[in-house]
Amino acid sequence: MSNFNHMLSPLNLGFTTLKNRVVMGSMHTGLEETNDWNRVAEFYAERARGEVGLMITGGISPNKEGAVFPRAAMMTNTEDVIHHSILTERVHKENGKIIMQILHAGRYAYSPECVAPSRIKSPISPFFPKELSHDEIEKQIDDFVKSAYLAQQAGYDGVEIMGSEGYFINQFIVRHTNQRNDGWGGAYKNRIKLPIEIIRRVRTEVGTDFIVIYRLSMLDLIPNGSTFGEVIQLAKAVEHAGANIINSGIGWHEARIPTIATSVPKGAFAWVTKKLMGHVSIPVIASNRINTPEIANDIIKHGCADMVSMARPFLADSHFVRKSRTKKAQQIAPCIACNQACLDHTFSGKISTCLVNPRACHETELVIQQTPNPKNIAVVGAGPAGLSVAITCAERGHHVTLFEKSTEIGGQLNLAKKIPGKEEFRGFVDWYNEMTTVYHIDLRLNTVASVDALHPFDEIVVATGVVPRNPHIPGQNNGNVLTYIDVLHDKAPVGENVTIIGAGGIGFDVTEYLVRDGKGTSENLAEWMIEWGVTDPAKHVGGLAPEGPHTKYPNRKITLLQRKNEKHGAQLGKTTGWIHRTSLKRKNVDFIGGVNYDFIDGDGLHISFGKQRNNPTRIKADTIVLCTGQEPLNTLANELMSHKRPFHVIGGAAKAAELDAKTAINQGIRLAAIL
Ligand code: NAP
Ligand code: SF4
Repeated sequence: MSNFNHMLSPLNLGFTTLKNRVVMGSMHTGLEETNDWNRVAEFYAERARGEVGLMITGGISPNKEGAVFPRAAMMTNTEDVIHHSILTERVHKENGKIIMQILHAGRYAYSPECVAPSRIKSPISPFFPKELSHDEIEKQIDDFVKSAYLAQQAGYDGVEIMGSEGYFINQFIVRHTNQRNDGWGGAYKNRIKLPIEIIRRVRTEVGTDFIVIYRLSMLDLIPNGSTFGEVIQLAKAVEHAGANIINSGIGWHEARIPTIATSVPKGAFAWVTKKLMGHVSIPVIASNRINTPEIANDIIKHGCADMVSMARPFLADSHFVRKSRTKKAQQIAPCIACNQACLDHTFSGKISTCLVNPRACHETELVIQQTPNPKNIAVVGAGPAGLSVAITCAERGHHVTLFEKSTEIGGQLNLAKKIPGKEEFRGFVDWYNEMTTVYHIDLRLNTVASVDALHPFDEIVVATGVVPRNPHIPGQNNGNVLTYIDVLHDKAPVGENVTIIGAGGIGFDVTEYLVRDGKGTSENLAEWMIEWGVTDPAKHVGGLAPEGPHTKYPNRKITLLQRKNEKHGAQLGKTTGWIHRTSLKRKNVDFIGGVNYDFIDGDGLHISFGKQRNNPTRIKADTIVLCTGQEPLNTLANELMSHKRPFHVIGGAAKAAELDAKTAINQGIRLAAIL
């Protein structure tokens, strides 16, 4: 038996048995909306081959008004049944189990036709919802029931009824969004009538041998949310109405507390699920920020839940469970909870994928095959671009030599892992180290690859990365000026009054590093909860601490500057930029935009504003840190060119502007697929 025997033990539901306790949670990948059902089927089939116990599809609407956005996937007719049958058949062929999530967005639907219990606009939507009449509520219930019936016809093993995250059903449950005074509002028993009626009628429709999961909001993290007594009351009623399993919902989408970002401690909400254990006799699932088999196994072992749900980790590695079972857990590609290629894509209307694994959701198009013609391949530079091309080439059967001039692999990932709240990058670099060993890559650290040394290779890949951009500010050679590398890598001393020049991703990271003296709260749950104002929902409604978030003020005064006249951090991730801004503002960081950098002297930085260089001002600073972007490091590429040696160039060495790890890794894997 493997070390993860709690997570890997089967779960008998009576009429069916799940092969292990791991659920792939629902994700809006955008795949269902492509209408390419072979692609959708392959996405799920690949995860079934990876041995996950149960998969839940992305949210599928039971009707037009409930769709998250116009043209979002629905299950309303026989054509939908035919399409979905393609994926259920493929999953069953791979010995997997899959259920369909029925998601009605209510007032979160991005449409002027959205509906809700009351006409109260959500802070994250521009649309006022229509308040439903009694008959219209009955119609919504009928649509849920019909959708569940059609899902059964399509061959699904069950449905998950989405009752959390602030969607339609959740909007009925709390007074914050339900201000009705008919039989669907007012007293709690009226407000939970909607989910109970949906579950009860769905169960009647689909019979007993069909999984019905209810996702229950255990911690709303909004004002006027549920008390924990109400959560228990609802859970009991859900069981009584016919659900087989309860899944944990944590935080409404409009909550201003992060619940899945990388700075949230691992397994941060398992204690909430644990509070429900023993109050119901059906299995309960824990979710949010679970991304390793160790954490998943511990959650079950310590009685926090009967099962665990992970979603994004199955984008990063479709074979998470199989690798755990076969004692290859070290080889699981880690989800670093960055959201950069999954949720940020979803919210930009793009298909999700994964920064760590660009094959996710592209399984039918980006195919990695064994090579019939093994070559000797040299890769120069062991940052994310070089590592991904090297590992994928080696995986395909090529002989790979990886040259790295420094003492360690990882490149810029080694800077990222020093930032408080980005500790997940450590595991990412560890994984790369593991994979270079697994695929027998000839790794040459402390080695600068010369043109001569590259002579014997069949293919040369230049992935030499970037150097900091020189902003050429008069006086920047003053002793009080550092680059981000001096600060993060070389740990140069930094004063109490600091000015950061450049508010891109690295400017934000360096500021976060300095305001926290290099130490965040993401590895200390108690401190993190105090920082964000999260508390026990049994003591305070919705889990919001009455005193609100608590800020530990820094020992430094920091000013973060940019030339652009726009919101700071506008280029950061759609789903995470607000977290970085909030965190720094609470630490009293001054954001100043629209500036000219006039000159630097011993007193600090002299700036002015606008084309006329108005309001010249001195920002007193004992340290100024340059975070002004990057330029390609292409010395080797130029030398190879002058020797007329053919080569490939990827990552920052090709184009540094706006290059991030997501692009670098994607370029590496795509090149490796065709070498
Ligand atoms: P960046 O995002 O391009 O930011 C550099 C900033 O420096 C620019 O926003 C620019 O702002 C300023 N700048 C550029 N040239 C300048 C010049 N000549 N003089 C003065 N200021 C200048 O680059 P980065 O911060 O180095 O980050 C590199 C990459 O890593 C980016 O793709 C970034 O998205 C990614 N990254 C992302 C994150 C994250 O999402 N959390 C974290 C780290 C890195 P103005 O023109 O307005 O002054
Ligand atoms: Fe995880 Fe980031 Fe990949 Fe999303 S993009 S699955 S958060 S590693």
